[in-house]
Amino acid sequence: MDQIIVEDLQIYAHHGVYQQENEKGQNFYVSVVLDTDTRAAGVADDLGLSTNYGVVCRFLHTFFTEHTYKLIETAAEKSSEALLLQFPHVRQVTMEVKKPEAPITVPFGSVSVKITRGWRRVYIACGSNIGDKRAHLNAAVDALLGDRKCRVLRVSEWVETTPYGGVEQADFLNGALSIETLYTPEELLGALQEIEKKEARDRKERWGPRTLDLDILLYEGVVTDTEKLTIPHKDMQNRDFVLKPLAQIAPYERHPVIGKSVMELLADVERNGEKHVLLD
Ligand code: ATP
Ligand code: CA
Ligand code: CA
Repeated sequence: MDQIIVEDLQIYAHHGVYQQENEKGQNFYVSVVLDTDTRAAGVADDLGLSTNYGVVCRFLHTFFTEHTYKLIETAAEKSSEALLLQFPHVRQVTMEVKKPEAPITVPFGSVSVKITRGWRRVYIACGSNIGDKRAHLNAAVDALLGDRKCRVLRVSEWVETTPYGGVEQADFLNGALSIETLYTPEELLGALQEIEKKEARDRKERWGPRTLDLDILLYEGVVTDTEKLTIPHKDMQNRDFVLKPLAQIAPYERHPVIGKSVMELLADVERNGEKHVLLD
């Protein structure tokens, strides 16, 4: 991806662990690499289609002087997030915050913190089989639309499906959505569980009835398997009720472990797997 680069923006600010640093202040030097597509602006010679680096510099200057943090880690974290929220064409920020006058008792050139943050593409499965199922699924979409750390890109149709996992219960309504998010995988799981909670989900039985279930299917190239979180979702390849709506919004997206596209996984499960999707 194209990049806009600012090096060593000088900002006199008050970040530091020591009271003296907070009172007197010192120079910080901020460098940013903004990943963004400059093609349209470059072809048309139109600043309106790009991200104005002058505005970015003023934005950073204001942010660094209006806040006071103990850590340059925090200054980098918060200002990167603010940049990503403020400038819609920027997909990713790499920021280095240097503190060459830091209170260190041995001679040194400079100390700095460097981080990379950005919008990550995620696919989410949603399901409901209690009460007004459609309303529960729509409420999930609305909650994500209302979260500034998420941008909803596409929403599938809601499909009627029969239950999975052998528990006797009502039919489901299932769907899939794609978002871009600033949350890490663990933070996103927490945010989705909050949305489930708001829809009064009561977590009694695995694969049992629920007002709302939100699962992370794919998270931009991430492969992880911890006690709390498995990405890609460990059973997505076996579920037509997940793959069918997902194929509507992302047919060519690839499973990073199995290596097949969503369309291919759906064809496999429709040939060999259980059938849960009703009314094709
Ligand atoms: P399944 O995960 O097989 O669809 P389920 O959705 O009914 O079953 P839940 O009771 O909703 O299961 O969740 C059980 C736990 O699964 C959650 O507390 C969460 O920590 C964990 N989990 C692991 N990977 C994921 C993921 N990719 N998305 C959502 N939850 C996950
Ligand atoms: Ca589930
Ligand atoms: Ca779940």
